Amino acid sequence: MRLPRSCCLCGAALDEGVLMCAPCQSGVTPQRGGAIGVRPQCVDEWCAPYDYVYPVDVLIRRLKYHGALYLAAPLSYELARCCKDSAVDGIVAIPQSTTAWRRRGYNPALEIARRVARAVGRPLWAQGLRRTRDARVQAGLGRVARQRNVGDLFACNMNVQGLWVAVVDDVSTSGATLSAVANVLKEQGARRVSAWVLAHTPAPDESI
Ligand SMILES: [Zn+2]
Repeated sequence: MRLPRSCCLCGAALDEGVLMCAPCQSGVTPQRGGAIGVRPQCVDEWCAPYDYVYPVDVLIRRLKYHGALYLAAPLSYELARCCKDSAVDGIVAIPQSTTAWRRRGYNPALEIARRVARAVGRPLWAQGLRRTRDARVQAGLGRVARQRNVGDLFACNMNVQGLWVAVVDDVSTSGATLSAVANVLKEQGARRVSAWVLAHTPAPDESI
């Protein structure tokens, strides 16, 4: 696959084969070294290498909303590095709504999961989860409303009895989506659930 000939952030001319110019690349550093703020309920282990701030927020939005699928690999790199020693049995991605699928033609979370799974050498269970319906958009909702909104949104397509499952998503805000999925997996007998997320946005009510 050919990468663009200009820096994906500032537009500076580039040699082929790199994504960003050196100054922009230096801004894309993990913020937390894999640690994170508030852990979602039902999640045993929690990794999000980036804060959802510039320039990572710009890159993730391009991946999610502007078809920049070529960003999935470089964005997944740090997450894979954080999780490379994990002994999970397999990896699932948060499924997106049918509307989002029709609009994008791909699921950014699944594209990240695919690359992380390959890098860490664990199986990807691409159809492991499904949505039971389409939810209201989470953005703009408070923590309680978010939890209510996603509580019964996801179902498990496979037997996870006794398994350790990693759930991959692009961005986590309140953690409500990850909690809902982790809850479903635990109800289905999963032994352990890890949440692997590219970037974390502290919700307003999360900062102390
Ligand atoms: Zn640049």
